[in-house]
Amino acid sequence: MSSNYRVLCLSHDPAIIARDHDYNRPEQAEAAIRDGIEGHEHCDLAIGRYSYPLVELGCPATRDQPTKLRCVHANTEWTETGWLLLLAAAYQSDDPVVRQVAADGRHRCLPWERLQRLRGEMDITVKEQQGA
Ligand SMILES: [Zn+2]
Ligand SMILES: [Zn+2]
Repeated sequence: MSSNYRVLCLSHDPAIIARDHDYNRPEQAEAAIRDGIEGHEHCDLAIGRYSYPLVELGCPATRDQPTKLRCVHANTEWTETGWLLLLAAAYQSDDPVVRQVAADGRHRCLPWERLQRLRGEMDITVKEQQGA
C-alpha cells in the first residue's frame, strides 16, 4: 500500500493543501516545512499521509512549525485517522464527561479548534456549538 504525503495548512478554516505537491516520503514533507512554504510563512502546518483518503496526520517538529502551538515535540507526531475521528466524536459528545476527558487529555497537538479544520479531510460533520 503506497502512501503520499501532502502539506496541509491549518491556519485556513477548513484546512487547505499548502503546496500542491505529493511527496513519497514523510521526510520530504518535513523538509519542505523546514525550508518554508511560500505564502504560508507563518501558518500552522501539518502533514497528511494519504492512501486516499487521509490515513494519518503528522504534527511537525516544533522547531520546524512556522507558528507557535501548545504542543512541543522534537519529531513529527503522527496520529491515525481512526484516532482523529474518535477524538472528534469525543469533542462533540453529548456526554459532558466525555467532552471533558477529550479537553483534558493529552491531545495538545489536536485541540478542537485545530482538529475541526480537518473536517473536509476526515469527512466529519461539525455540530452546532451548544452554547460552549
Ligand atoms: Zn497557510
Ligand atoms: Zn504537535
